[in-house]
Amino acid sequence: MIENHMALIESICPDLNLIARGKVRDLYRIDENSLLFVATDRISAYDVILKNGIPGKGKILTQISVFWFKYLKDIVPNHLITCDLNDMPEVLQKYKDQLEHRCMLVKNLKVLQVEAIVRGYITGSAWSEYKQKGSICDIPLPEGLQESQSFETPLYTPSTKAEIGQHDQNIHPSKASEIIGENFAHDIAKISIQLYTKARDYAFKKGIIIADTKFEFGIDSNKIIYLADEVLTPDSSRFWLSSKYEIGRSQDSFDKQYVRDYLTSIGFDKKTSIALPDYIIQKTREKYIEAYKLLTGDEPDFL
Ligand code: ATP
Ligand code: MG
Repeated sequence: MIENHMALIESICPDLNLIARGKVRDLYRIDENSLLFVATDRISAYDVILKNGIPGKGKILTQISVFWFKYLKDIVPNHLITCDLNDMPEVLQKYKDQLEHRCMLVKNLKVLQVEAIVRGYITGSAWSEYKQKGSICDIPLPEGLQESQSFETPLYTPSTKAEIGQHDQNIHPSKASEIIGENFAHDIAKISIQLYTKARDYAFKKGIIIADTKFEFGIDSNKIIYLADEVLTPDSSRFWLSSKYEIGRSQDSFDKQYVRDYLTSIGFDKKTSIALPDYIIQKTREKYIEAYKLLTGDEPDFL
């Protein structure tokens, strides 16, 4: 276990079969049917993993995902088997210090190779495309939309799942059918909109705007569709504080705001990893805690 200031930067579980380390998560194969997702405290900005982590961030992200899996389970089944370490295989128990509250045992699925992005508000790459071409993913849109304005109905704008080192590419929904087949493409588009709409309405009442989000889906051997990966976390979505929302400009990112401002102030080159000062780490940690409290209404007593 590599720790700094109590942040778990990397999980070290030599008796487990590590299959990948993403920007934030470490992924282990447990057996033929299951995987272990471990959310570390790593933080990335502009796709660069920073040198120090945000203590507790991985636990908070895991618990936010688990909250949504439960809240959304009536719309579609999900891959979560358990997030309770006590219910996981014996071989994991010796790594309790590292894993507790930050891991999920999930069904090993065949992941559908499309990122299911839903946008409720026009921002980011969608705003850039709209300004240039009046469309998003080549879907034509009404004239005169302002930055950060909400759409009348949420927009489904899938993207490819890029290989390591490549960037995802936005695609027209019809192209998703070519990649994963018409039936799956149709189903995940419909499910994604339902998931987003239910989550957006819930979060809005709690003071958070979910501007957009990305879902991933997988299928089991019976071709049943499951919601996979992480869901509706600040890492897979854009969260805005509704009390600060103003149409016609870009919005502060709920969680990364202090990090981005700091990196801008030091002229960060978006390539070379650096360490964040302690006060930025503390303020950012407080934002993650605030997101958890607002969304779930609970105290993060697992921290
Ligand atoms: P990053 O998210 O850091 O850009 P990444 O997506 O390659 O990189 P992770 O998100 O950490 O890395 O890796 C999770 C991987 O596991 C993704 O490729 C995702 O599609 C896949 N995955 C998610 N859920 C399941 C599942 N139930 N079964 C199999 N694979 C899954
Ligand atoms: Mg990922």
